[in-house]
Amino acid sequence: MRTYDKSQKLNNVCYEIRGPVTQEAARMEQAGQQVLKLNIGNPAPFGFSCPPDILQAMQEGLRLGQGYTDSKGLPAARAAVAGYCKHKGIAGVTMEDVYIGNGVSELILMSMQALLDSGDEILIPAPDYPLWTAAATLAGGRAVHYLCDEASGWLPDTQDIRRKITPRTKGIVLINPNNPTGALYPSGLLQDIAAIAREKGLILFSDEIYDRLVMDGLKHTSIAALAPEVFCVTFGGLSKSHRVAGFRCGWMCLSGDRSGMGGYIDGLNLLSSMRLCAGVPAQYMVEKALSNPDQPDPDLLPGGRIYEQRACVVQALRAIPGVSVVQPQAAFYIFPRLDGRFNIQDDERFALDLLREKQVLIVAGSGFNWPDADHFRIVYLPECDVLRQGVEKIGDFLQGYRQ
Ligand code: PLP
Repeated sequence: MRTYDKSQKLNNVCYEIRGPVTQEAARMEQAGQQVLKLNIGNPAPFGFSCPPDILQAMQEGLRLGQGYTDSKGLPAARAAVAGYCKHKGIAGVTMEDVYIGNGVSELILMSMQALLDSGDEILIPAPDYPLWTAAATLAGGRAVHYLCDEASGWLPDTQDIRRKITPRTKGIVLINPNNPTGALYPSGLLQDIAAIAREKGLILFSDEIYDRLVMDGLKHTSIAALAPEVFCVTFGGLSKSHRVAGFRCGWMCLSGDRSGMGGYIDGLNLLSSMRLCAGVPAQYMVEKALSNPDQPDPDLLPGGRIYEQRACVVQALRAIPGVSVVQPQAAFYIFPRLDGRFNIQDDERFALDLLREKQVLIVAGSGFNWPDADHFRIVYLPECDVLRQGVEKIGDFLQGYRQ
């Protein structure tokens, strides 16, 4: 019989967040076990819901948005994103520079497909949100990882960025605020990275999907606002900030010096037109969702769920001997470190062993292209008591665990 393997294009493409350990969790659930899922940043199942006015806009979109839109998206949605860019200090973005997608995910894939030829390199953080590495690899490029430094609060190591630039490097990816570390990047660091991009003629790709999920009175800065002359592609969306991950709505916008970028922009336009357009009803949410950009999100203020859950998870993790954490400043992820006593050689096996023994699902650090087997990611969206129980189980498990 003829057999079919996956295409060779997929040989080095990994996406562990929904990988084999998650499939094992699904199998356990089907067999009647209860699994505590701390693996996916999906707010709605944890009781976070979309603001009613946004939901209403989506409902109107069901009536109004039955046909295709322009490939780049509904004019009103694109104009709203251009206005949001202006509000964030990103100069010169018009609606022609804005592309609406079925989530940021689709646009990440598109941005890499349109750019990379075989052997082209793109600098991506380690740890990263692994779709970036997967998208660059699928596009035929080479993901080159620069280190983020845990000792400095998980900030990108600019020396490492410089060291890893070669004549094949085409761009630098930033994830700010960061998934999986929850780090928020200060302006000085962004200026340093922008200076590198300017000097070397590189494109900046900035994934800012968590820009409104910032705590402690800190403010998010878009690198594009600090680098008006560097060609930047900035990504944002409603999945996290407006708790509508299921509706699939994100955008990317182009800013900075477009000279020399005509071919790349043609490529983006071609790919955008090939998928016809993003889902239209969801696009009707954008204008409303961006109408009040400075309104604080109560879940991120003291007393709010995400803020308090961060405190719970940090405290519970720090109580485990051999575990340390950098307190996140944004988003809803934490990336704890396991010290040498556990002697973990294979962190995916660690995640699987934990799942089987304690029914707690986390994602191993290697799933985020972290080079050592000594970290894992927790999504701290569940309520405090659930988080405490989950982390206690991790602590119990670790006490006896050696590889
Ligand atoms: N970028 C980052 C950093 C993410 O964490 C995620 C989802 O977890 C995405 C992009 C994809 O988001 P979307 O739902 O808009 O596709």
